[in-house]
Parts: sequence; structure tokens; C-alpha cells
Amino acid sequence: MEHYDVIVVGTGEGGSGVATRCAKAGLRVAVIDDEPYGGTCALRGCDPKRVLVGGSELVDWHRRMLGHGVSGDTRLDWSALMTFKRAFTEPVPQRRETAFKKLGIATYHGVGRFSSPDQFAADGKELTANFFVIASGARPATLGIAGEEHLKTSTDFLDLDLLPRRIVLVGAGYIAFEFAHIAARAGAEVVVFSRGRPLKQFDSDLVSRLVDHTRILKVDVKLDSPVQGVERVGSEFRVKFRGPTGEESVSTDIVVHAAGRVPKTGELDLAGANVETDQRGAIRVNDWLQSVTNPKVYAAGDAVASPGARALTPVAAHQSAIVASNLLHGNRKTPDYRGIPSVVFTTPCLAGVGLTEEEARSKGLRIRVKSEDTRNWFSNRRVCEMAGMYKAILEEQSGRVLGAHLLGPQAEEVINLFVLAIRHQLTDRDLSHAIYAYPTSGSDVPYML
Ligand SMILES: Cc1cc2nc3c(=O)[nH]c(=O)nc-3n(C[C@H](O)[C@H](O)[C@H](O)COP(=O)(O)OP(=O)(O)OC[C@H]3O[C@@H](n4cnc5c(N)ncnc54)[C@H](O)[C@@H]3O)c2cc1C
Repeated sequence: MEHYDVIVVGTGEGGSGVATRCAKAGLRVAVIDDEPYGGTCALRGCDPKRVLVGGSELVDWHRRMLGHGVSGDTRLDWSALMTFKRAFTEPVPQRRETAFKKLGIATYHGVGRFSSPDQFAADGKELTANFFVIASGARPATLGIAGEEHLKTSTDFLDLDLLPRRIVLVGAGYIAFEFAHIAARAGAEVVVFSRGRPLKQFDSDLVSRLVDHTRILKVDVKLDSPVQGVERVGSEFRVKFRGPTGEESVSTDIVVHAAGRVPKTGELDLAGANVETDQRGAIRVNDWLQSVTNPKVYAAGDAVASPGARALTPVAAHQSAIVASNLLHGNRKTPDYRGIPSVVFTTPCLAGVGLTEEEARSKGLRIRVKSEDTRNWFSNRRVCEMAGMYKAILEEQSGRVLGAHLLGPQAEEVINLFVLAIRHQLTDRDLSHAIYAYPTSGSDVPYML
């Protein structure tokens, strides 16, 4: 039976950092993954998605500028774009495994699970370890609708060789909006189904603008329309939903699950290892990201239930560093979740950090809200972008930045200025008195405040 200091489940952002840091510090480390090495972000999430977004935003910019000094035709060549995307994703598994091996990390493949509280079955072998780190990520939530087996996953969408003519997205979170923008600009007819409020975590006024803008792209955003079931009819699918006027249906070539993800912990037999989870399957941890019921187990990334965290790559990386430090030096470090930004990579992007106006008001905070339509600001007009709005939430007395929400060109970059403001408790005056490179979207910040 092989023995390790640390066994890490998952080779994404949550697992890789712990494994690497512990191995560099001289510990005996093993990793295991049931998917190719590299994790969701690099292989099936953020990175491949942003490559596709890159193509679609160029097409959009070109179309917006027609008649303003730009002419001709630009269109997306889906299969060539897919080849370009694969140039990013395909080298990752080999590169990551080689990097692990160079550090002396033992690499296992397949589904791993606890066979007792301190024993783990991996790749047909029984392993023991002083500590285990669960960084097993997330999977699409089970929806419990008829015909669920017909749904494709986000992973399938990001690897489509051909783009179907008609696409239905079930769910209205950030993945649904991002995929809708990509597919619509590539020429598909897209329907998005929202059960409750779309993009719940973002400011509702900016979300309304984004929904309107998405509809201008001819994406059919169906609000308050829960999907009830999917039926195969010959070579197409019929999606049944409850619309405002009762039961309705649409026909489509593909139905994509974009209705949320839950921790992928079901196959680990956590109960057998005395590792408690919440009702979603996320591992309950203390402030040091250590299981509340089994001190030999730590957790990081999408699989952890840590108050204030979000299921995002930089959060997984942050937790990974905290877990590594606690393993190496004892429980000293706790995560700091202040000011986690979140971006919807539509064109233009919607970005937010800190409190929304609704959250600040429901907490009873005394706030000042600065908000404006920015469609006529230079940063928008220069690129003929018709969607633009911001909202900044400031503490009334001090002017401290509590939240910022942006829709418009470079929102995904400008939000990082507000991240620093929140982390370092800067005020509207601090941000306004800085001298920014001009003319940039960052130089709009003093005008916003
Ligand atoms: C389509 C999409 C787009 C996204 N876009 C963004 C974005 O733009 N920005 C952002 O910040 N975040 C984004 N995310 C979220 C981000 O990808 C995740 O938060 C992040 O990858 C989580 O990392 P992780 O290490 O926790 O899990 P993962 O990277 O998922 O790694 C976990 C690995 O463990 C494996 N595993 C699970 N159980 C077992 C087992 N029993 N045995 C062996 N292996 C197992 C899994 O199969 C997986 O390979 C996106 C996610 C998706 C799906």
C-alpha cells in the first residue's frame, strides 16, 4: 500500500496549487483526476470560452463600425475558431502531468474514493495519506425534468464541431448569456429560458439592460418560463415550458444545460470517511478550510462550502494557497473573500464587485448610489457600443466604495480598479484623485464617482 503525506483529488485550480506547493516543500504528494489533467477552467470553462468570445466580439465590433470607417463583411468560421480554441486546451493535460511528475508528484487517473477515513482507492490501488485535499470541482445540477438525458453540457457546447442552426439554453446564469452571445453572433437562433430572475448575483438594473441588449441580437430571452421537459422528435428536440400564457413548446437542434452547477462529490464516498457535506454536497469546513468532521481532510474550489466564497477560478486558486499553507505550517491562514469580482463575458461585458444596491439596502446601510447611462460617453461612442451603464455604491459618510457594477466596453478590466478599492477600503475621493491614462475606460472612473 502506497503512503503519501498528501493526496489531492482534482487537478484544476483548487487542487494543482496545493499539490505543487506541498511537493516543492518536500512532501510526498499524489494527485488523481477522472478527467484529463488541468481542470474545468483551462479545459472546459473560462479559457476556451474566452477564446470563442474573442472571435465573436471582433465580429460584433466590426458590425457596429460598418458605415463608420469600416466596410466589408466579417463572419465567424466556427470550425476554424474551434481549431484555434483546441490549440489552447489540447496541450494542457500533458503539460500539467509533466509538471507534476517533474516535482515528484505521483499521478493517478480515474475516479477516486475513500475506502475508510484514512484510506483512498485510486486507479485500482489502495493508498493511505496523512492528509487529503478534496478539490473535485462541480458538475451540472440534476434538474429533475422529463427528457433530461437529451441535454448537452457546457463542456459539449464548448467543443461543438459544427454550430447547430437552433440552440436552446436552459437556465439564465452567466454561462447561458455568454453562450447565447457567442452563438447568436455566429449565426444561430438562440432561446434562453429563465425560471426566476436572470443573473441573480448581478445588479438588477444593469441586468435589465443586458437582457434588452441580448434581445437586440435576436436572442429570445424567455423570462419566468421554467422548462418542464425535453422530447426527441425525429432529428430535433421539443422543449416544453410554462410560459406566461400556459404550457408552450419550441423546437430546436440542441438543448444545452446552463442551469447551475453543484459540487462533484458524489463518487467520493465522503460519508464513509466521516466528511460532512451540506445539502448541495459541498464539504463543510472550518475557517482553515478543514473538514469540520474529519481533520485529515481539507477542501478547496467549487467543492467547498465556505461562507463568502464564489465558485470562480481565482477563488479556487486563493483557497488552494490557503490550504497548502495550513498543511505546511499548521492552521494559521484563513481565506479573505473581500471584493471578489465576477464577470459575464457577453459583448459588452457585465462586471460586478462588492455589494449590489439591493444587498446594501437590505442590510440597512446608509449609502450613496451613483449611476448613469453611459451610452453617450466617449468610451462607448468610439466603438459604437450601444449598451452602457454603471452603478457605484458608496458608504454615505466616508465615501468608501462598497460595490461597483459596470456594463460597457472594458468593464471586465475596469472592475479590477474597484476590486483594489474594496480590498484597500478606498473612497470615491481616492479613486477620483488618481491620474489615469487617457483616453481609456479606466479614465471614466472619476466621472462615475
Ligand atoms: C462553462 C464554464 C465557464 C466558466 N467561466 C468562468 C470564468 O469566466 N471565470 C471564472 O472565474 N470561473 C469560471 N468558471 C468556473 C471555474 O471554472 C471553476 O470555479 C473552477 O474551475 C473550479 O476549480 P476546481 O479546482 O474547484 O475544480 P475543477 O477545475 O473542476 O477540477 C476538479 C477535477 O476533479 C475531478 N474529480 C471530481 N471527482 C473526482 C473523483 N472522485 N476522482 C477523481 N477526480 C475527480 C473533476 O472531474 C475535475 O477534473 C466557469 C465554469 C464553467 C463550467
